Amino acid sequence: MPELPEVETTRRMLEPVLLGRVVRDVLHTDPQRYRNTEAMLGKQILKLERRGKYLIFRLDDGLDCLVHLKMTGGFRIPNDKKFLEPPRFERLRLVLHDGEVSYVDSRRFGFWEIVPSNQWQHIKALSEMGPEPLSSDFKLKDFQTAMSRVSRVKPALLSQKPVAGVGNIYADESLWLAKIHPEASKLSAAAAKRLHAAIIEVMARAVEVGGSTLSDNSYQQPSGESGYFQLEHHVYDRTGAACSRCGAEILKYTLAGRGTHYCPDCQRK
Ligand SMILES: [Zn+2]
Repeated sequence: MPELPEVETTRRMLEPVLLGRVVRDVLHTDPQRYRNTEAMLGKQILKLERRGKYLIFRLDDGLDCLVHLKMTGGFRIPNDKKFLEPPRFERLRLVLHDGEVSYVDSRRFGFWEIVPSNQWQHIKALSEMGPEPLSSDFKLKDFQTAMSRVSRVKPALLSQKPVAGVGNIYADESLWLAKIHPEASKLSAAAAKRLHAAIIEVMARAVEVGGSTLSDNSYQQPSGESGYFQLEHHVYDRTGAACSRCGAEILKYTLAGRGTHYCPDCQRK
């Protein structure tokens, strides 16, 4: 599933193509999943923002278009304004006054919704979301307080409440970097400080290199290029490989329903 670095990479690449453009048409055949998109017609795209794993297109006339990529959603940008043929798994085409972009989604879990500006209360994940990890809102003191109360640190991170945008890959990588076991509870102030720094470091680096493209190839940058952070993973998708820090074998098990990778030596319970 695309996490913060993949969504942020997508946002940055869409920005020069979408910003200031007027929406001429929104082509799709699934009004249940891509809701109220006719409200975008004739509207100008004023800003492209991201909150956690959500993309938010700010439109004129006080409208927001919320997009969640879920498991396999993503965008494609044509090389020269228009597509010669539709990209594979295209579900929606956004036609602008001077070009177009395609939304692709092989498994069709992603959704679009047009709402009045900032009317996100009905989306629980957005209204309860914690601070952005790459912003000054991600305060160490608040994070230490939240971490001092957790019963299992990884599921707490995945809840998006202590910090936004951390999913399965980046939780595993951040916990490895901070030398914290995925099931550690009630973190000390020192451990929470290490984790706070690790999340910032991992997220910043992953954004810098375009996110992670895994073996299923489902995530690509909108240009069609892969991301490159998978080449720097220390634990995720490295089951059985040697830990780059201590040489022990990386293990994988299921925690709260999610495949979890860790080093049994570096990340003791
Ligand atoms: Zn290790």
